[in-house]
Amino acid sequence: MSSCLKLASPGMTLGRPGLKRAFLSHGRLHLTRIPSFNASATTPYLYRPFSHSSAFSATHSDLKPNTLKPVDYAAIEQKWLKRWKLGKDAARSATSADTATPKEINGKEVASLSDKEKFYILSMFPYPSGNLHMGHVRVYTISDALARARRMMGFDVVHPMGWDAFGLPAENAAIERSIHPNEWTVKNIDIMKGQMEKILADFDWDRELRTCSPEYYQWTQYLFLKLHEAGLAYQKEAVVNWDPIDQTVLANEQVDSEGKSWRSGAVVEKRKLRQWFFKITEYADDLLQDLDRLQHWPERVKQMQRNWIGKSQGAEFDFKVNGSGKDAIQVFTSRPDTVYGVQFLAVSTEHPILDAVPKRHQKELEDFKESLKTVSSSGSDGEIKPEGVDTGLFADHPFLPGTKIPVYAVNYVVSDYGTGAVMGVPGHDERDFNFAQTQGIEAKYVIVNEEAKTEGETKGALTARGVLSGDCGEFSHMSSEEAHKAIISKADALGFGREKTSFRIRDWLLSRQRYWGAPIPMIHCHGCGPVPVPEKDLPVVLPVDVELTGRGGSPLKQIESWVNCSCPKCGGNAKRDTDTMDTFVDSSWYFLRYLDPHNKSLPFSHAKATAGMPVDIYIGGVEHAILHLLYSRFLSKFAWKTGLYGKGAAVEDKEGKDPGHGEPFKVLVTQGMVQGRTFKDPVTGAFLHPTEVDLTDPQNPIQISTGKAPAESYEKMSKSKFNGVDPSDMIAAHGADATRLHILYKAPPSEELEWDEQSIVGMQRFLIKVWRVVGQSAANQSSSGVFIPDIQTMNEDERELWRLTNYTIKELTTSLQNTYAFNTSIAFLIKLTNQLSNLTPAPQDTSAQTTTLSKKPKKNQTQVSPALFQHSVEALVKMLSPLAPAFGEECWEAMHDSSSPSEQDVQLLHRSVFSEPWPVHDDAALKEDKVVCGVQVNGKGRFTIEYEVSDLPKDKAAQEQFLRDMIYKHERAGKWLKDDQGVAKAVKKMIVVKGGKNVNFVI
Ligand SMILES: [Zn+2]
Repeated sequence: MSSCLKLASPGMTLGRPGLKRAFLSHGRLHLTRIPSFNASATTPYLYRPFSHSSAFSATHSDLKPNTLKPVDYAAIEQKWLKRWKLGKDAARSATSADTATPKEINGKEVASLSDKEKFYILSMFPYPSGNLHMGHVRVYTISDALARARRMMGFDVVHPMGWDAFGLPAENAAIERSIHPNEWTVKNIDIMKGQMEKILADFDWDRELRTCSPEYYQWTQYLFLKLHEAGLAYQKEAVVNWDPIDQTVLANEQVDSEGKSWRSGAVVEKRKLRQWFFKITEYADDLLQDLDRLQHWPERVKQMQRNWIGKSQGAEFDFKVNGSGKDAIQVFTSRPDTVYGVQFLAVSTEHPILDAVPKRHQKELEDFKESLKTVSSSGSDGEIKPEGVDTGLFADHPFLPGTKIPVYAVNYVVSDYGTGAVMGVPGHDERDFNFAQTQGIEAKYVIVNEEAKTEGETKGALTARGVLSGDCGEFSHMSSEEAHKAIISKADALGFGREKTSFRIRDWLLSRQRYWGAPIPMIHCHGCGPVPVPEKDLPVVLPVDVELTGRGGSPLKQIESWVNCSCPKCGGNAKRDTDTMDTFVDSSWYFLRYLDPHNKSLPFSHAKATAGMPVDIYIGGVEHAILHLLYSRFLSKFAWKTGLYGKGAAVEDKEGKDPGHGEPFKVLVTQGMVQGRTFKDPVTGAFLHPTEVDLTDPQNPIQISTGKAPAESYEKMSKSKFNGVDPSDMIAAHGADATRLHILYKAPPSEELEWDEQSIVGMQRFLIKVWRVVGQSAANQSSSGVFIPDIQTMNEDERELWRLTNYTIKELTTSLQNTYAFNTSIAFLIKLTNQLSNLTPAPQDTSAQTTTLSKKPKKNQTQVSPALFQHSVEALVKMLSPLAPAFGEECWEAMHDSSSPSEQDVQLLHRSVFSEPWPVHDDAALKEDKVVCGVQVNGKGRFTIEYEVSDLPKDKAAQEQFLRDMIYKHERAGKWLKDDQGVAKAVKKMIVVKGGKNVNFVI
């Protein structure tokens, strides 16, 4: 630090020469000697606020409330963006000059030589659409505030940003605008980077990555090869969801509940194609079980993942089909106890048994299959209307010899789900019941349960467990649970069934027949089959010269020079795989690459990934609760299991690694949507454009055409609803600092944020108040550099300020470390600011001897010691800075330096509030004073009780109860409030006044 002084401009004052300044750190008071230098030119701590290059137009006298000029937020932001950039450049050149940093110690690679504890804060990286929306601003504001605070708290923070840059929109834009997807993407990235700077987000741009650059996707391909090597990437023919608009295959997860494409909205068709899959099902058990390790994930996200993985334990039964010449149809059921209620079998339209369908049923079957290509089907949650056709086939019921069961081909059984066949039990399964009704099958009931007694005649499906009816052979009258086991045992013994666990989750279909993605690094040879591209030949570079039409399958197929290659195995003629990878592959490992973004020989070094993982806090939209998070967990676990990073389960368990087992994200914060104020015509329901609404009185909007109030709501921002808000407009109008505070203040991160521009004013008023107390503090710098809190000598106001300051520190620390309750944090900062606004730092004691506070507390005094005032304002500014960084810096500078150094003077870095330590609270300060409460009976003071303010409940009824208990316990209560027998006298009224300082009983 001392090196900064030699460059300081003449006359500049960094602190009082020779004096010690104190700061609290980890609960202890530290003193730092400030070296004296060239102090002769100016009076120590002469307050010359905001002069020279300062962005504020105000001078000290302007800071009086009446004459305060508006704060020029834009100028402050510009100034600090410039300073921060200078500081970073200086820091960067300092590190690159430092050649002493060893890469290895004792032959072992070293991840980092920082002795600080690492903290990895990550916000989900955006797709470079070209425009930040308010949702982005929200998530980056949250992560930036956390990152800045953690750095002040002394952590070695990783806070990277990058671009999820492959994907369809770039390709579609290319088709529409005749611009190469890469050009479009790069342009958008530049725009969005500028926007991120405008919201003052401080990302580690040195770690920036773009998934569309060969330096990145080389390693996506490398991981594909590793998965292939492990048998976890494979190709199979599959009935797939085909998006007829985007001309590509979609994963089940990308088809919504109405059977439409998540992106194009087209009704998805079924096609049979050869596709690449990742075998995520291999990890199903791990992915399920380890959810329990994720203590800091929202429960609903974990539940969504549990449901998606969908583990169910049950049985598999074989139903022999007569005369089919085929093996039996195998069905999985989670309810073997209902097997006596089986009335039909339902198979998918792709089931191999359908080859045996008798001629007279074939046409009907083909027509049915054809109809499924166009109707919405394959909803991701199975919420589709069950339909099907009789195949003319019959199966034998394994438990009821001689009973023939009809076989139906249906739309609600998916071919790649388990066995592609289920047993139909209309009596005890909702969907089977609904289907049975379409076929006129009357439900048979074999389980007796509570539902049956109350449901009456038309019972529907009785899904609860119960007792088996008398129609269930040797299992009759057993409980469902007993029968479950007994039935499986018997089937097992007789060889037509077995215990089975089934998962709902399917393997991850990652082939895409589009251009703008990472090419799948495989080569197809006539002789050798699919052959992996050798690692040394990576990356398989996406050819630049391509014609994009948006139709007719993969554009890569058209580029012969690229497709034709030689087989790495036999050297013969071969062809490249022309599919590209789903962009979810790119984003399922980017958090690992951030830790080692420039590695040229590996996706990431073992040491750096081991040191940096897991991500300590991951922030993003809840819409990624399933796919992205599940895929990321899969890839991270794969990398961890195969030793690409981590110390192995044994060592990590011993070290108590949280969460461990290759789980990538320790804390997950899912932020809610930002909703816009939306106006509708109350009669027609049409959305109203802002120009159609008179907002002169924001609280009472008027629909101009009718002169009446429009219907009003908060809804997801969209162009069609005219309720969108452009972050750039907000920042231009109100400043980034106020916009950030507003976002953080309006709602807790996980809740929906109703964007109301009108109330940003509240945040600006708050900032102006802060600015005033900063001015007051700077103008009344304490004569002593040392602040020693001595509660005994403090007057009432000082004690309250000291308590509130410490309380606020405690709250903000908890909030920024654990609870992320930014809204209450800001409320605390406002409260502290209001408190400071009501106080005046006492005139400076010129004797210069006073190192403690004024000895004689005066009643009702609003003056407090300048040292305490300054201490509180400094804490306030420090805590505000992560939330409103440019404003925080300006305040800090105003309090500590009045000079205007040249912009080249990069040593200014050292005066940044962000290099200050985070304030630490003092537990002893939190206790409030004892209250002496006078007890009156019929208006006459009789005795007093004492209690601690902090013990007094906030709630009025509880407060009365608390005081009553205290009072009746008092020895003098016997005389005044009880009769001779010691029984409490009837009280007509109990009046609590002065917030518990007086109680009057009327008896
Ligand atoms: Zn070959």
